[in-house]
Amino acid sequence: MTNKDLANLIFPNITKTIEDYEKEYPKRNLPEGAIVSRFAPSPTGFMHLGGLFQALIDYVIAKNSNGVFYLRNEDTDKSREVEGAVELIMHVLNHYGLTPDEYEFDSKTIGNYGPYIQSERKEIYHAFIKHLIEIGRAYPCFCDKNELDLMRDNQETMKIRTGYHGRFARCSRLTVDEAIQKIKNGEKYVIRFRSNGNFDNKFEFDDLRQGKLYLNENDIDEVIMKSENMLPTYHFAHIVDDHLMRTTHVVRGEDWLPSAPKHIQMFEAFGFEAPKYIHTPLIMKKEGESLRKISKRKDPEARMSYYEELGYPALAVIESLMTIINSNYEEWHTANPDKKFTDFTFSADKMSTSGALYDLMKLDDISKNIISKMTKDELYKESLNWSITYSESLKNIIEKDPEYYKNIINIERVQEKPRKDISKYSDIENLIWYMYDDIFYNKEKTYEWKKITDKKEISKILSTYMNKYIDLSDKEVWFNNIKLMCDELGYASNMKEYKKNPENFKGNVADVSTVLRVALTSKSMTPDLYEIMSLIGIEKIKERYNKIREEF
Ligand code: GLU
Repeated sequence: MTNKDLANLIFPNITKTIEDYEKEYPKRNLPEGAIVSRFAPSPTGFMHLGGLFQALIDYVIAKNSNGVFYLRNEDTDKSREVEGAVELIMHVLNHYGLTPDEYEFDSKTIGNYGPYIQSERKEIYHAFIKHLIEIGRAYPCFCDKNELDLMRDNQETMKIRTGYHGRFARCSRLTVDEAIQKIKNGEKYVIRFRSNGNFDNKFEFDDLRQGKLYLNENDIDEVIMKSENMLPTYHFAHIVDDHLMRTTHVVRGEDWLPSAPKHIQMFEAFGFEAPKYIHTPLIMKKEGESLRKISKRKDPEARMSYYEELGYPALAVIESLMTIINSNYEEWHTANPDKKFTDFTFSADKMSTSGALYDLMKLDDISKNIISKMTKDELYKESLNWSITYSESLKNIIEKDPEYYKNIINIERVQEKPRKDISKYSDIENLIWYMYDDIFYNKEKTYEWKKITDKKEISKILSTYMNKYIDLSDKEVWFNNIKLMCDELGYASNMKEYKKNPENFKGNVADVSTVLRVALTSKSMTPDLYEIMSLIGIEKIKERYNKIREEF
């Protein structure tokens, strides 16, 4: 019996050959230098920051080079599959504007290199495994879990590198006849790749981020097909896929780097050119003075849902990631404020060689800037959309009177240095609630009085203002009136004079304005008081001032 007989016994119905598939998925017709990248998540849970980080690099390098960015669903580990994970991945990519050029979703396939779901590619993998068996580079292994555990224990006691290699690779020495007999006897088996490496040899591996590395050759006979469902393992499936989908660049977490030697070996076994690799750094966070890896379990910001729930604009999250993807992104962005992040030329060698530090404060800053540049209509639209899913109360506020809401968020927006106090849509309600009587009167609030705290004095300021000076016809008139009131009540209307002789006055115009502001909003810090007063209107201002005076 020959290897061919063995291959036919295992895959009796596989008739297509590698050559057939090469023809079916020919080299892509793309301009010179175009990069084909892929995001290849396993649908095993929520989408996390590290995933978006990788997808963003994939997207940028493909767009930079007029290439193709595709999504592949790596679902061969059925036991770890989580329902809804694929929907979430697709949602996140779309939300962040990283929609792939090719993908399969919702029974729709876009692109000519599919299926893009690994579990639908079983026949293809089998053809490739069949070929490896025929040429003697793969074999069935009948060792069960107990035997493998025992082997590992022995290796550990003998202080030998663990794994199915060298003399431990017992089934690699079975003859074809023995293997065929065992299969015919109904023994369970997996398929292993027959490695031809020597662990003591090093070979040169060029990682686009880390440069030239010297890695040990692989000598482990890795499992490439599991016995359950005859599905391939990641190690094998992605070799076939990256080749047939004509991937030029693989961007994946650096936790895969130790497996690279076996992947390279598999590409070689088929005579395929391996893609270029960018192994990405871990995403780190600051904790006190030290840095640690962002944890999917411990850190809420590791989940992409965190950013959507809080209402960060998608672009803010993208830009915050771009700043850690390439150290020169920020400088470039400052010099080219109107360009899109896809116009930036990504360089793998400008990625951090250690971990990538993700800083939420930085995200806030970036986000504040982005929101400050939105027009009132844009911010209205974005915040309304967000509120529909995440905040019933903001939604009610907005829908009650959209024009009023737009005017509120427009305060200090159209000016050279627009306000920058909103970093996410969930900040808004807390910044504007006092503009609404129904909320204002029903809310537990503390009046943040500053210098003037005496109730009688406050009352006097408010009544004098209401009786004689309130005038919102124009900002200059409004302020002038406040100054006139200061003169009447013994406060300095002129700051210079006040600074010269503070003892001559009860306080100054800023102290008086603060009383007007706090009495109206309860807050000592608000955007422009004149605009707030104009929007609330004289009637309602008076109502609020009178109420306070009654409460005193
Ligand atoms: N499915 C693998 C993972 O989720 C993908 C690794 C790769 O991009 O090749 O880690």
